Amino acid sequence: MDFTYDPQNIFARILRGEIPNKTVFENDHALAFHDIAPQAPIHVLVIPKGAYVSLDHFARDASADEHFGFMQAVAEVCRIAGVDAGFRAISNTRAHGRQDVPHYHLHILGGRQLGLMLDDAG
Ligand code: 5GP
Repeated sequence: MDFTYDPQNIFARILRGEIPNKTVFENDHALAFHDIAPQAPIHVLVIPKGAYVSLDHFARDASADEHFGFMQAVAEVCRIAGVDAGFRAISNTRAHGRQDVPHYHLHILGGRQLGLMLDDAG
């Protein structure tokens, strides 16, 4: 698998501070911010600070510290957002997964009853 990273992708630009974001949480290894086009009342993106294109890239190559820092950020987002009633975590990956931004990100969606996991109509 070719995990070539494009440093001009929009999340790389957010990490460099070139584009503003509404930060929810940040630590040494991850940044969490509100999605610009929310699909639910709570829609936060958690991204690693490292140059990883996708979930499988991050899973393969990230260090233990990066994994831990990322999951700590997920936990903090869930706590801050107050998704006690539940939420969904989605990581769209490459063409079949309809990934638009080629920097690994986890969508945290909640705040209402969500629909079925897959809608293959579109
Ligand atoms: P994907 O389709 O790659 O899984 O999701 C990319 C997400 O990034 C989309 O939900 C989209 O709304 C969000 N997004 C794209 N550009 C920006 C941006 O400049 N700022 C923020 N906060 N979100 C963005």
